[in-house]
Amino acid sequence: MIDLSGKVVLVTGGARGIGAAAVRAMAGAGAEVIIHFARNLEAAEALAAELPEGRTHLVAGDLADPAATEEIWNDALAWKGRIDVLVNNAGIYETADPDGDFDAFLASWDRTLRVNLTAIAQLCRLAVPHFRDRGAGTIINVASRSSFRGDDYDCMNYAASKGGLIALTRSIARKCAPWGVLAYAVAPGFVATEMVDRIIAQDGLDEMAADIPLGEIAPASDVGNTIAFLASGLARHATGTTIDINGASYVR
Ligand code: NAD
Repeated sequence: MIDLSGKVVLVTGGARGIGAAAVRAMAGAGAEVIIHFARNLEAAEALAAELPEGRTHLVAGDLADPAATEEIWNDALAWKGRIDVLVNNAGIYETADPDGDFDAFLASWDRTLRVNLTAIAQLCRLAVPHFRDRGAGTIINVASRSSFRGDDYDCMNYAASKGGLIALTRSIARKCAPWGVLAYAVAPGFVATEMVDRIIAQDGLDEMAADIPLGEIAPASDVGNTIAFLASGLARHATGTTIDINGASYVR
C-alpha cells in the first residue's frame, strides 16, 4: 500500500537507529533516499550497500554547527535538484543535572536545544520555501514521549527540546498547509537503539519493559514504518498530528 516511488527523501541521522529504520522502510517503498550522517561514513556506506543501487545518496555534516546545517540541506538538494520529504530524525539525549556543575548544565542545555530544535528549525526554514515553490512537501519530526510526559530530573533539557519540536511541527502544519506543506511528528517511547544503551545498562531491559503494557521496548522498525506511512501522502489531512509509538506506556 505504501508507495514512495518518485519521492526524494532526506533523513537526518539516517545511518543508524531509528533513522536507519526509516531509510530502510522508505527505500523499500521505492523512495530515493538521502542518508545524512554526522561522522560515521562506514555505517552510512554499509546501510546504502544493503539497498538497491542508485536509490541512496550520502551527505555528511554536524547539526551542532549552524553553517554545516545549511550545507547539509544544499548538498542534499543538489543530488536530484529537489526534496519531497524531510525527516528530522537526528537528535541527542544528554543529561543536564540541575544539582551538578553549572557550566556543564548550561552547555548541555545549549547543545541539546541546538541539535534537537534549532537545527531542525533551520532545516525547516530552508525546506518550507522549497516546498512552497513546488506546491508540495512533507516534514516529519522525530519527537518523543518526553515531549508530552516530561523526562527525568536530569533530562529536562531533552524533554524541553522535544516539546518545542511538537510546537514547531504544529505551527508549520497550521500556517503552511495552504502552500501544500504537511508536517507531522512521531513520538516514540523507549526504542532499542544506541541512544538508550546508557539506560539499558543502568536499569536493564526487563525493568524498562515492565513499565510498558506491550511488554517490550519498541523496535526501531515500528517508528521507521510509521514515518514511511506519513511520507506517503495517504493521510494528508492528519497534518499537524503526532503519532505515539510507546506500547501504551503513555496514552494521551
Ligand atoms: P541514535 O543515537 O542511534 O541516533 C541518533 C542519530 O542522530 C545518529 O545517527 C547521530 O549521528 C545523529 N546525530 C546526533 N547528533 C548529531 C549532530 N550533531 N549532527 C548530525 N547528526 C547527529 O538514537 P535513535 O534512538 O535512533 O534516535 C533518533 C531520534 O529518535 C532522536 O531524535 C531521538 O531523540 C529520538 N527518540 C529516540 C528514542 C529512543 O528510545 N531511542 C525515544 C524517543 C525519541
